[in-house]
Amino acid sequence: MGFDDLWSALQPVGRDPRTGGYRRFAWTSEDAVLREWFAGEAARCGLDLVVDRVGNQWAWWGDPDEAARAGRAGVVAGSHLDSVPDGGAYDGPLGVVSAFAAIEAIRERGFSPARPIGVVNFVDEEGARFGIACAGSRLLTGALAPDRARALTDADGVTMAEAIAAAGRPVADLGRDDATLARVGTFIELHVEQGRALVDLGRPVAVGSSIWPHGRWRLDLLGEANHAGTTRLADRHDPMLALAAVISSARGAAEQQGCVATVGKVRVEPNGVNAIPSRVTAWLDARGPREGSVRAVVEAVGTAAGVQPDEESFTADTAFDVVLAARVSALLGEAPVLGTGAGHDAGILAAAGIPTAMLFVRNPTGVSHSPTEYAEPEDCVAGVEALARVVEDLAR
Ligand SMILES: [Zn+2]
Repeated sequence: MGFDDLWSALQPVGRDPRTGGYRRFAWTSEDAVLREWFAGEAARCGLDLVVDRVGNQWAWWGDPDEAARAGRAGVVAGSHLDSVPDGGAYDGPLGVVSAFAAIEAIRERGFSPARPIGVVNFVDEEGARFGIACAGSRLLTGALAPDRARALTDADGVTMAEAIAAAGRPVADLGRDDATLARVGTFIELHVEQGRALVDLGRPVAVGSSIWPHGRWRLDLLGEANHAGTTRLADRHDPMLALAAVISSARGAAEQQGCVATVGKVRVEPNGVNAIPSRVTAWLDARGPREGSVRAVVEAVGTAAGVQPDEESFTADTAFDVVLAARVSALLGEAPVLGTGAGHDAGILAAAGIPTAMLFVRNPTGVSHSPTEYAEPEDCVAGVEALARVVEDLAR
């Protein structure tokens, strides 16, 4: 089974026929179908499926524990299968599908690895349901405390603990998993590019250098519910005005600091056309090349809103292994080396001290987290071939 067959098997899962976008959220029925697909592919390829304490799925060619004990920990490729609301088909799945396809390619060439080779599907990367990005890899490395994770709630008030239990997984196991981490000698995440650098460079594949510092902050803007027709303007306590200040100050401060900032999610209570809101909750996403500038943006937004932004997550600047990136770039014919403003599981593993590299596959429009996200089939094939060469080189 080649890349095309693997790819088309995933296409219908969680696809909204109205928008063409995907809704694949952690621990939902769509997620269960995706996890079953992963388990099926592992079985078809004769790989051993292991689910870690957190629920991340690993498929192994070779015995990862024996090899780790012998100082030859495995080479793992993969990414995630979940999506943002109305996300594209490529963000995440391209990395998982390419990993299976790369293993097939390596085997067809008759290569016999000196280190075990694995494929991983990290659970809940986008944080679309419970608000924390890379929850699966953060729990795995201990960067997210299990008690905090269990108590996170989705929009319907369902806790992560309840969602995991409903999916039939043990909730008590959640937490740092040293046995799993010991198996991973090197991690390679292939991902669709979320920008247009490769279009400008005329190359199909790049190597990642670093992930910008980035985070999410919640702003609770309080007001007083009242009648939209009978309450005089002077008597109103309207938190929607604070929201306007949040949005425009985020833009202004980001421009000033050379960062990007986004208010992409708000919750309005009671959310009635003819009611002054009692409360508006807004989420700010801010990223930039330096932590100081990102912090300055958040501070400016807090000042404009008159409240202290509540930090839900923050990831410091994460540089990938420089020697590994240079080796991978050289192996791929001096592939360009790019930084990114997007967070990835690879960044969480790198921060935990695991030698990690990323490959980016050209995105003709640069659009991501949208139904129009795309990669040309020949670029996807180039990505698989690049990943196969890198894995082969590292597992030699
Ligand atoms: Zn992704």
